[in-house]
Amino acid sequence: MELKFEQIAGFPKSLSETPQHFCPGCTHGVNTRLLAEAIDTFPAGEKIVGVCGMGCSGLLPDYLDVKMVAAPPGQAIPVAVGLSHEIGGKGLVFAYVGEGDLYGRGLSALLHAAKRGESLTVICANNLNMGMSGGHLSPTTLLGQETATTPDGTPATKYGVPIDFTRFITGIPAVSLVARFKGFTAGEIKKGRGYIARALKVQKYLGGFSFIEILGICPTNLELPPAEAVMRTKTAVAGIYPSGIFKTPEAGILT
Ligand code: SF4
Repeated sequence: MELKFEQIAGFPKSLSETPQHFCPGCTHGVNTRLLAEAIDTFPAGEKIVGVCGMGCSGLLPDYLDVKMVAAPPGQAIPVAVGLSHEIGGKGLVFAYVGEGDLYGRGLSALLHAAKRGESLTVICANNLNMGMSGGHLSPTTLLGQETATTPDGTPATKYGVPIDFTRFITGIPAVSLVARFKGFTAGEIKKGRGYIARALKVQKYLGGFSFIEILGICPTNLELPPAEAVMRTKTAVAGIYPSGIFKTPEAGILT
């Protein structure tokens, strides 16, 4: 019997062959590939421009074969909005930003862009700490989580309770699509690829504002091997940062 083989996966066209310099086990590498695969669902001639923030997410332009702009801290959304207005519906603009940058200095710009329903796809890489600058407290750091600047474990009395920004953004009327997934479990990675592609399609066909949060791991600053970092983060975020699709243009708020 002759065996027939069919290729079901390959190297994404939009992923650069440049070796990546993320730490071993870091989810930024997974996110980069998912973004490339989502971009590949569009025809080759589609104009797609990206903006990255500061920190480890700022390495993205080296690894994606699309035109990208690096924005100063807190400014990824204003830069992306400017590009979106300039392109004026003739292309797509996405922003890929770490949670420290997006929910910290960038929060006001993010909320106002969402309020206006700008034509934009925003992807937040949320790994619960400020990775590149040494693993200190970020706006989503969990209660009890030890970081470089909170070695006492982030008590609420001192640092407050972390906010679920994704759920907050879901409630903004002009926002079209909101979803969150873990970039470190196989089932959710598969779903996440679809969420990113769908977010870009909402922007293309409806001109809407889409928001995707990817929960990630930062093994280096957790000082754990990647497999242990996955287990620790999976348990820690359970019930606090749930996964799923929270809003679509067709159905509105889902949960
Ligand atoms: S410091 Fe953390 S977020 Fe940055 S590349 Fe290393 S593992 Fe990833």
